[in-house]
Amino acid sequence: ERVGYAVVGLGELTEEELYPAFHLSARSKLTALVTGDREKALVQARQLGLKDEDVYDYEHFEELEGRADVQAVFIVLPNSLHREYTERAARIGKHVLCEKPLSVSVQDAEAMVSSCKAAGVLLMTAYRIQYTPHHQAARELMQSGQLGQVKLMTAVDVQTEPDEGQWRLKAKLAGGGSLLDVGLYCLNTARFLTGEEPYEVFAYTHSTPGDKRFEEVEESVSFTLRFPSGVISSNFCSYGASKHRSVRVLADKANLLLDPAFDYTNLRLRKDTETEVTELLIKEVDQFALELDHFSRCVVSGEQPYTPGEEGLQDQRIMEAIYTSAREGRPVQLERFEGRDVFR
Ligand code: NAD
Repeated sequence: ERVGYAVVGLGELTEEELYPAFHLSARSKLTALVTGDREKALVQARQLGLKDEDVYDYEHFEELEGRADVQAVFIVLPNSLHREYTERAARIGKHVLCEKPLSVSVQDAEAMVSSCKAAGVLLMTAYRIQYTPHHQAARELMQSGQLGQVKLMTAVDVQTEPDEGQWRLKAKLAGGGSLLDVGLYCLNTARFLTGEEPYEVFAYTHSTPGDKRFEEVEESVSFTLRFPSGVISSNFCSYGASKHRSVRVLADKANLLLDPAFDYTNLRLRKDTETEVTELLIKEVDQFALELDHFSRCVVSGEQPYTPGEEGLQDQRIMEAIYTSAREGRPVQLERFEGRDVFR
């Protein structure tokens, strides 16, 4: 039996990626839409085979409480609204799959984790890479020792979006600039691939003077993470450079290159030694369907997801330290991650 979801927020991600993912998923089904634009939602509902009664306005979100076929909500709103809808969902007893970044601050993320806990509902940060076969294969190669001792990593996630006027450029809605939106993938991947928690960060941010897009949020961030095993990971994210999304792992026996690393499709993983270049052929599966079905399995079994709210919270803490480091021009120590060590 499939787990029923209400999707909250019918923007680009929902329309272009999540509707198709629900279609491809084995364990999840879309049963309701929550929107601020009823006309648009009614058209989409009909295309999806839903009824007019399956469309709810934001104000009537709580009416989902009586829907037995909505066990979970998928929050796909601008970042600063994640907390409000997570708390509202928890209050009506619905499990929550919340888009990344989990929220816009450590404080909000903590509140989200505790309200879901108090309500006895599951909270999952809707990350992709931990459920993606290419990233899983890279992690396996690293952690099984096949690369030898890992020394260095770099991750890059840069693009020239968004355009002026988007919520992503408004501090109040986005909570930050390229770091929260795309730099998060670099951070996430460094933690996932190493299976370690960084103990120190050092960062710079920069916004092109006079560029109106970056009056409220930062354009570019460079941040370095130090891990207990000695691995140093350097990361770049930007809203101002031509699209490039890659990860390199540099080790004493072999190196890995994931390029593209963070796209939705056509990921490529390569393993290089000094004498040989091997392209790993890995079957691609819709990343959003994988992530959705993981959560559905948790909803059915009651188990914690692999990327629970605590995982999003931990990234939020590290991003806050990255901003502090950049602002104060010094390395910032990170506290030990008190959460469950999900990546082992
Ligand atoms: P979008 O702008 O395309 O859609 C946002 C939706 O929120 C729209 O339907 C809009 O009408 C609605 N909304 C409600 N209140 C709003 C307000 N006050 N201001 C602006 N819009 C409001 O954005 P998106 O790209 O779909 O992103 C939504 C969320 O999904 C974000 O948290 C984003 O980080 C995340 N996201 C994740 C991935 C991924 O790969 N996991 C990819 C893209 C976006």
